[in-house]
Amino acid sequence: MIKKNRDELRQIERKHGFKFSKNLGQNFLTDDRVVKQIVEGAKVSQGDFVIEIGPGSGALTKAIADRVGKVMAIEIDKTVIPVLQEALRDKNNVEIINEDILNMDLKKLIKNEKIKNRDFESVKIIGNLPYYITTPIIMGILKDKIPTESITCMVQKEVAERINAKVGTKAYGGLSVAVNYFCDVSKICDVPKEMFIPMPKVDSAVINLKIRRKKPVEIKDEEGFFDVIKASFRQRRKTLQNALSGYKGIDKEEMGNLLVKAGIDSSRRAETLGIEEFANLANIIAANIEGNKID
Ligand code: SAM
Repeated sequence: MIKKNRDELRQIERKHGFKFSKNLGQNFLTDDRVVKQIVEGAKVSQGDFVIEIGPGSGALTKAIADRVGKVMAIEIDKTVIPVLQEALRDKNNVEIINEDILNMDLKKLIKNEKIKNRDFESVKIIGNLPYYITTPIIMGILKDKIPTESITCMVQKEVAERINAKVGTKAYGGLSVAVNYFCDVSKICDVPKEMFIPMPKVDSAVINLKIRRKKPVEIKDEEGFFDVIKASFRQRRKTLQNALSGYKGIDKEEMGNLLVKAGIDSSRRAETLGIEEFANLANIIAANIEGNKID
């Protein structure tokens, strides 16, 4: 199966004069079983409008198209578009857009699509993107509150571990807290590097992020919450009081008082704090900043 897909990809490469671009993170999936696992893990159905980011030669796109109402496939590389068009020639529910995802207004795109087709029950995002832009794209979609039900994406195995990490572990960090604030996270499968052509240097994993309807904690100032998390983990070996001293002009002693107020021992480190404790601390710091403002 893998061999057949590899040969097909090589043929396509020759026919269209297509060259894999390292800069665009072009490592294409060659294993149909992984494709099936991703599509099943994304829990897509006929009522869905799916935005696929980085379709490449269309391995995933074809499988998604068979199960959903419509796929919009957004691909930056114009040289891969003829390959994609050929792969999808018998699918009439796929729209290919040759664009950089980072330049697209997804809110507007989804709004327009919903006006065109009122039957869509939900929007889902699926992507296998270059590793260096995957995390910023995921965080952008979550922070900008793009109205999607879920994001299913391929990430570097270590990133999947960080996103899925439990409090107190080495992998636990700002990314774990932030993603879990927005989503219920589950891992769909591991994908060894041998499953791609050309073969990347690292193994991957596919995760499903189901956007929470209700957040697990109440936050007064979301941006402030993420800032506190970032500052706490910036020097993760330091105690919280030291790591946060100077944050927004709050001196060490005052930060110690705020930690006491939040019921957090100031000698603890960031990796020992669960999401509720971060929320409580961020809310107390926000109230302190607000109280110190001079009108
Ligand atoms: N989905 C295909 C697969 O699984 O075989 C291809 C995956 S490949 C890892 C990543 C794809 O994302 C490439 O086709 C690449 O050209 C595309 N890509 C890279 N940066 C992009 C961007 N900013 N916007 C849209 N597509 C991008």
